[in-house]
Amino acid sequence: MEKSQLESYTKAGKIAGQVREYGKSMIKPGASVLEIVEKIEDKIKELGGEPAFPAQISLNETAAHYCPDENDKTILKDEVICLDVGVSVDGFIGDTACTVDLSGNNSKLVLASEEALKNAIAIVKPGVKICEIGRVIKETITEHGFRPVKNLSGHGLDQYNIHDFPTIPNYDNEDDTELEENQVIAIEPFATTGIGMIGEKGFANVFQLVQIRPVRSSITREVLEEIASYNGMPFTLRWLTKKFGMKARFAMKELKNLECIKEYPPLVEKSNGLVSQAEHTILVKENPVVLTEV
Ligand code: MN
Ligand code: MN
Repeated sequence: MEKSQLESYTKAGKIAGQVREYGKSMIKPGASVLEIVEKIEDKIKELGGEPAFPAQISLNETAAHYCPDENDKTILKDEVICLDVGVSVDGFIGDTACTVDLSGNNSKLVLASEEALKNAIAIVKPGVKICEIGRVIKETITEHGFRPVKNLSGHGLDQYNIHDFPTIPNYDNEDDTELEENQVIAIEPFATTGIGMIGEKGFANVFQLVQIRPVRSSITREVLEEIASYNGMPFTLRWLTKKFGMKARFAMKELKNLECIKEYPPLVEKSNGLVSQAEHTILVKENPVVLTEV
């Protein structure tokens, strides 16, 4: 890895860790989800990064991909809350998440994913099979009395690419691919009180540009230009309505019809079990570097 790449990864990871803690400090009963994500995204820019994806706050049985739009009125009360943030510096990404239990009854569930992450990181080094990481995650979560979410995984990271090879499973999937020195990976155990499977549910507010096609209307062209500036990384309608007003909704509809846009709806546990998540971005070394630790 080049020195400048490592510097960007290090900076992105550091900002991501800082804003995760900043976001966590705002997760309190009575707080507005919309306000928290906007403050997080502003803070990312203030610290010299860009959001690698819109900040996400997923409640209870929702594991990921919940992102408020500009009209969202969700006020936190007594939920189990997963906060997931991504920061890009020149396209090099820090991806990190934590869970806050406002219910007061689910601290063990939160601990299960945290401990699974800790135990997984403890075995990371070049040559370790990714199924071994999955096994450690599953064993830790099971020992705490919960199940891992099997169809959510960690992943490799590359410039402007959040979900790169390899997939890091949350159970032993028998994949004997080995970690390599200088790979950057995100490990993200999800623990649940449910059956451990998620499915898509509800309306998407996280999107990704998949192809650019010629468009007629000038507003759609402007919006497409803005989306292209995200370099293929996920975005939310809220960013567009802020810049273009309600016309952004029209443009997005047209871009969806033209199949320029992929949608990522919220991911909800299939048996409505509560979900917790913990995530760090790690540089694989003999002594691994947890880039998103603060
Ligand atoms: Mn994440
Ligand atoms: Mn991730």
